[in-house]
Amino acid sequence: MKALRFHKARDLRLEDVPPPPKPVGDEVILKISHCGICGTDLHEYVAGPIILPIEPHPVTGARIPIILGHEFSAVVTDVGKTVTTVRPGDRVAILPHLMKAGDYYARRNLGQFSAATGLVGLTWHWGGMGEYALVPEQNVVRLPDNVSDEQGAVLEPSAVAVNAIDNAGIVAGSTVLITGAGPIGALTALAARAAGASRIFVYEPNDGRRARLADFEGLSLHGGSTDDLVQRIEAETESGVGVDAAIECAGHPAALDLCIRVTKRTGTIAQVGLFVEKPEVDMFKLCEKGLRLVGCWGNDITLGPRLVAMIASGRFPAERIITGRVSLEQAVTEGFETLTEAGNDHLKILINVAG
Ligand SMILES: [Zn+2]
Repeated sequence: MKALRFHKARDLRLEDVPPPPKPVGDEVILKISHCGICGTDLHEYVAGPIILPIEPHPVTGARIPIILGHEFSAVVTDVGKTVTTVRPGDRVAILPHLMKAGDYYARRNLGQFSAATGLVGLTWHWGGMGEYALVPEQNVVRLPDNVSDEQGAVLEPSAVAVNAIDNAGIVAGSTVLITGAGPIGALTALAARAAGASRIFVYEPNDGRRARLADFEGLSLHGGSTDDLVQRIEAETESGVGVDAAIECAGHPAALDLCIRVTKRTGTIAQVGLFVEKPEVDMFKLCEKGLRLVGCWGNDITLGPRLVAMIASGRFPAERIITGRVSLEQAVTEGFETLTEAGNDHLKILINVAG
């Protein structure tokens, strides 16, 4: 079968590799439909291997060269004997965290925090940028007829966004600031709207990216001077106290500063964006305002059915972040290369693996 494998930085090869073996136990064989290119894939492409294991992964045994892709939809082609939730012919999507049975965190549905956790498409033998993949049943979620393959392919980043909304405590009527409108920031804005937030302010300095969100309903979009945004938030929140919560998706010190500045006293900041370097944080302000700062990492794989239901309801149009589509053959030149160009305004490029 054809698969796009990571060998080293800037060296992804479309190769012929053996397909997965006959499934046993809880294993599910998938024929991949669509697979998204994620920021994590781009980091690996530019500067990897970072997460990708050079030595065999301690739990999964996988090592580079590795088939990338952890955001994908597929059709089930074969299942092991103990599989009960899906059968051949089912359309599915996956959530990639590979939970180790019995693990302290996995038993609490927090397996993403376990050092023993692997990831499909990063620290696993199979990924979504190949024609077929083998994954455990627990990572597969069935898609109903009214959820498309493309919507299924953005289920994983949607999980990150909904996890952020939950961590920020967004409820009906909440006011929120989202900093950074890349794919995760854009999905977080859609998820905040689905959760019933009354005011959703988005700060994104890239004009092109901001323009991509122009037709999303119910957002107050801002770039340029943050002073204008601060004034606007004061004017539009009760007693001018600031937003109930901020969700920082940029991983940028200035963005975190802005969140600390405009979140109301005793409000919550959910940190989703990953910082490359340690930021300088005004911890005095954080204490003085009684803010709660919550780190967000991955997601719980049991979120799958809830996300699918949100998308199926029409209230969470996650597919709106899709801004490009390429074939597996074009994935490096038109996908990875395009997304690593400075100032590009794409949100999500999908690889149409099935063609
Ligand atoms: Zn990802």
